[in-house]
Amino acid sequence: MGPLPAFPQDYAAARERFRMLSAERGWLQEAHPVAASGHDEWDLTIDAARLGPAGAENLLILSSGLHGVEAPFGSAVQLAWLESLPRAWQPPTGWRILLLHALNPWGFAHLRRFNEDNIDLNRNFLEASAFDELRRGDEESNYRRFDRHLNPPRPPGRFNLFPLLAGWMIVRHGKRRLRQVLPVGQYAFPKGLFFGGHGPARSTQIVMENAPRWVGSAKRIIHLDFHTGLGEWGRLKLLSVEAPDAPLMQRAMELFGRESVEPHGGPTAYASRGDMGVWLSRRFADREYLCLVAEFGAYPAVHTLGALRGENQAHHWGDPASRSYRRAKERFVEAFVPRSPQWREMVVRQALRLIDRAVGDAG
Ligand SMILES: [Zn+2]
Repeated sequence: MGPLPAFPQDYAAARERFRMLSAERGWLQEAHPVAASGHDEWDLTIDAARLGPAGAENLLILSSGLHGVEAPFGSAVQLAWLESLPRAWQPPTGWRILLLHALNPWGFAHLRRFNEDNIDLNRNFLEASAFDELRRGDEESNYRRFDRHLNPPRPPGRFNLFPLLAGWMIVRHGKRRLRQVLPVGQYAFPKGLFFGGHGPARSTQIVMENAPRWVGSAKRIIHLDFHTGLGEWGRLKLLSVEAPDAPLMQRAMELFGRESVEPHGGPTAYASRGDMGVWLSRRFADREYLCLVAEFGAYPAVHTLGALRGENQAHHWGDPASRSYRRAKERFVEAFVPRSPQWREMVVRQALRLIDRAVGDAG
């Protein structure tokens, strides 16, 4: 394999390259606009590209950028894979491929985890009727006690004191409790971290509305959703939404190796609400829908949470022209997509091998 292509410079460049590479290779393309203030209607789109016969029984879905700041990585994987395919390449017999590029295009364009409304899209995949009750529950919940520490209403300071604060919170509330409460999603604090929204976001609606058409008559679906930031430096974990003894877990372990697949609620993942994979697996419960978050680790969890907190503070309360804003943003981007060439090479190569294994399963 030759040298890896560079990570895309920004959202616009990534999208242009995605469209060009998939068009050159004869993929069917579509684009779905996500409106946001400060942008023209077609500035921000979720792009899809499809290849293979409509009636194929097997479908591989590769999706990127549900968390915007992680999108340069997921997009780089999609671009590198497309680039590696000969122009006349067709999926193996019985297979169809669907690429979903930049599920959170605003977050990609602005390098935020969250979307144009501060919504964490991987906490937002719920029916519209579910949000009110969740909000009422969370207004009284444990999250309230952490909110003032996690989301202080002021710009980030000169020094990052979060590790100290985190240590104090762990002593006071216990690590397990923090892990259960913090990243699972909250529906009551719209400026807070891991806010799941007051209703389905536009990106969520696009996926929910188009999923039946995209999945079509496929009976077996493998969906790899690319993420970064959780786990050990450069290491891959495939996070399943299935219970340890579920038949789909067995299939995942056979395909990708026992050591890299983690069941729902395993040590790396959080049992979050409004998870895209959970929604898709339930929606297509009559098929074999194996949804795996392909999560590539970077920095220690406390560091990453501190970076998330600082960026959220800067976004809501900081001045974009200030040094503290720029510092918070740089630290945040580095926490999810490190500049290290070794890290980048390691994660893209692993992701490409993963795709080969998924498609290779066809043979
Ligand atoms: Zn993510």
